[in-house]
Amino acid sequence: MSKVLTKPQRCKQCGLCVAVCPKKAISFSSEINTAGYLFTVIDDEACIACGICYTTCPDGVYEIPGTK
Ligand code: SF4
Ligand code: SF4
Repeated sequence: MSKVLTKPQRCKQCGLCVAVCPKKAISFSSEINTAGYLFTVIDDEACIACGICYTTCPDGVYEIPGTK
């Protein structure tokens, strides 16, 4: 199971989470979502489930399984 779940349709491509991820585990997809933005994808190998992306994203893209 992924360490971080995402709701790609909510992403507005602001880049905040990409900047703060301590493991550089977040990058942008090569496709756009229905709102016309590139959305983020997580490298599950690199991710340590720290939750910083979750607390940083202003648009509620992330969810850490097992937490609320
Ligand atoms: S949980 Fe932490 S390591 Fe994983 S993608 Fe988010 S900020 Fe990066
Ligand atoms: S902080 Fe949220 S809206 Fe901004 S790029 Fe990351 S996932 Fe997308």
